[in-house]
Amino acid sequence: MVSRVIPVDPFDLIIFGGTGDLAQRKILPALYRRFCAGQWHEDAKIIAAARSGHSAEDFRRMVAESLHRHASARDSQALIRFLQRVDYVPLDAMSTAGWELLGEKLSPNRVRAFYFSVGPSLFGSLAKRVRAYNLATEDTRIVVEKPFGHDLDSARELNATLAAHFDENQIYRIDHYLGKETVQNLMAVRFGNMLFEPLWNSQYVDHIQITVAETVGIAGREEYYERAGAMRDMMQNHLMQLLCLIAMEPPAKFDPDAVRDEKLKVIRALDPVEPHHIVRGQFAAGPDGPGYRECVGNPRSTTESYVALKAHISNWRWAGTPFYLRTGKRLVARSSVINVMFKDAPHSIFGEEAGRHANALSIRLQPNEGITLKVTIKEPGQGGMRLIDVPLDMSFAEALGPENQDPPDAYERLVMDVIRGNQTLFMRGDEVEAAWAWTDPIIAGWLARGDVPKPYDSGSTGPGDAELLMKRDGRHWQGIKP
Ligand code: NAD
Repeated sequence: MVSRVIPVDPFDLIIFGGTGDLAQRKILPALYRRFCAGQWHEDAKIIAAARSGHSAEDFRRMVAESLHRHASARDSQALIRFLQRVDYVPLDAMSTAGWELLGEKLSPNRVRAFYFSVGPSLFGSLAKRVRAYNLATEDTRIVVEKPFGHDLDSARELNATLAAHFDENQIYRIDHYLGKETVQNLMAVRFGNMLFEPLWNSQYVDHIQITVAETVGIAGREEYYERAGAMRDMMQNHLMQLLCLIAMEPPAKFDPDAVRDEKLKVIRALDPVEPHHIVRGQFAAGPDGPGYRECVGNPRSTTESYVALKAHISNWRWAGTPFYLRTGKRLVARSSVINVMFKDAPHSIFGEEAGRHANALSIRLQPNEGITLKVTIKEPGQGGMRLIDVPLDMSFAEALGPENQDPPDAYERLVMDVIRGNQTLFMRGDEVEAAWAWTDPIIAGWLARGDVPKPYDSGSTGPGDAELLMKRDGRHWQGIKP
């Protein structure tokens, strides 16, 4: 099944930080793929702006190399045509250098998107100068990357800084998890089918597990990670967003504010997390490399590279259904999956010996995106009524055909949504603040108690205490499988 491509209007996309890692590895490859797919045309323009004094020609060479590496681009006609749309302006976010030249390159009467692909300390200066140099039109959007703040106070400050220059409906806060095909599918599965929604509550769901496991460590991000840790880097944003989409009430419409209102209600209904419902871990040295403390060069580091917790949502739908969330680095496999674990049937007509069987719906975000429903059937053959659990497996690649083998990168969807002016998959300011308001006391508690993360083996499923967190409740984590 070939997906339909609906072209976007002509635009000028300005990438501040265009020479940086994110721009070269994600944003420009995403734009290139969308260009090849025919979603935008020769009438649009990409202007990168950064501090280095490259010529436009040098920059295009750099982009060609990145596209070669990250988007398998060859010296094709498409690549040549794409590069003709790319320009470069040396510019300093903190001074007057380059801003007038940037202004001269912009086209009138079209969508303008300013992508702030720079450190958050520059967001304020960029927003101020975009306004001061009259570069913002009616049809202007700004895009900001994570991390959006370090805690509630800094997130509020950042929101206030951006709000001084732009309306909320012009601000696109990226959480790239929301651009993943399966994450969007989560909403399609929940709200496009009659089958699941009646069962989607504490009466039928025993508990929900959300796992985001990574095999990579923190190479290249040591300084940032040591200040952030898994709680700030992953839990406060990506896992929180998944939790919202799984737990929210059906919005009346699939429109930005309706969806984000419902997500916000979920965050606000979260109970504070009890200290004994959280496990922190730090990876130890292993065959894959040195331990966390050695990586960051701090033998006494108490930053967690793993966190697991049990959360409760105090509302009618979810009262009594725990949500177990875990994320970590250097784990056994790279796997992001949501498991909705249903309750046992109230009474087994097959007797004790048939064992306990419960349905489970697994939504795999990566790798091998797809959905599996575990159902109970009769074990084939003679010899009585024995039951087994089998998966009803829907791999999207299989169901939708080979051309959907590689789902589009999240940035492809998100950047095009910015141009279209659709904020549904972007975080609103109040959502981000609410997520920090829930996260801050957890981190403050660790500091106050002098909590030290538990070491865990690289290549394992995390610290043993995380297993205990479940065992104490008579439950267990689903395996982390590649
Ligand atoms: P980077 O250090 O590789 O690039 C930073 C860019 O900012 C460079 O182009 C640099 O020239 C430019 N820059 C720095 N100071 C400037 C100034 N005064 N004026 C103009 N330009 C200036 O950083 P990155 O990894 O590309 O990350 C960019 C942003 O995206 C950060 O906020 C980061 O947290 C976020 N982010 C990055 C990734 C990733 O995978 N790299 C993932 C998620 C979020």
